[in-house]
Amino acid sequence: MKPQVIIIGRPNVGKSTLFNRLVGKRLALVDDQPGVTRDRRMGDATIAGMEFTIVDTAGWEDDDAETLPGRMRKQTEVSLEGADAALFVVDARAGLTPLDNEIARWLHSQKVPVVAVANKAEGRTGEAGVLEAYSLGFGDPVALSAEHGEGVADLFDALWPII
Ligand code: GDP
Ligand code: MG
Repeated sequence: MKPQVIIIGRPNVGKSTLFNRLVGKRLALVDDQPGVTRDRRMGDATIAGMEFTIVDTAGWEDDDAETLPGRMRKQTEVSLEGADAALFVVDARAGLTPLDNEIARWLHSQKVPVVAVANKAEGRTGEAGVLEAYSLGFGDPVALSAEHGEGVADLFDALWPII
C-alpha cells in the first residue's frame, strides 16, 4: 500500500490547489470562498517518482467553524487515522492566524509526522509569512506556491525521509 499524506489547514490557504497540483488533475474544487471542499478527497500523487496517496480535507471549514464546540466537533472529523504524514498548510501572504495556531496545537498532540507548508510564497510577498511559519514548531517550513508549482522539490525533500 502506498503511504498516505493528509493535507490539513484552515480555509482558503490553498489545500485543494496543492492537492490538484500533486495529483495533476483538477479533482478538488478550488474556490475563492472558504468552505468549498465538503468532504475528504483522495488522489494518487507523484513527486519525482515518489508515489503516495494524498488526502484533501475540509475539517475546519464549516458554518460553525468559529464556535469552540463547532471546531472541536470538526477536529474529530479530521481524522489522522491511516495517515503517514500530514502537510499543515498556512498562507504565507496572510500570515498566521489564531486558527492556524489552534490547528498547530492539535497537530502537536497527534503522533503523525507534520511538515509545515507555507503556501502562496511566490514572489517576495510571502517571505515574512514563511519565516513566521517556523514558530509553528514543526521544523523548517516548506515555502511553496501551489498555484505556480514552485517549491515542489523542497516538498519532496521534506517528505521522503518520513513516508
Ligand atoms: P482551501 O480552502 O485551503 O482548499 O484553498 P483553495 O485551494 O480553495 O484556494 C483558496 C484560494 O487561494 C484560491 O483563490 C486559490 O487560487 C488561491 N491560492 C492557492 N494557492 C495559491 C498560491 O500558491 N498562490 C496564490 N497567490 N494563491 C493561491
Ligand atoms: Mg479546499
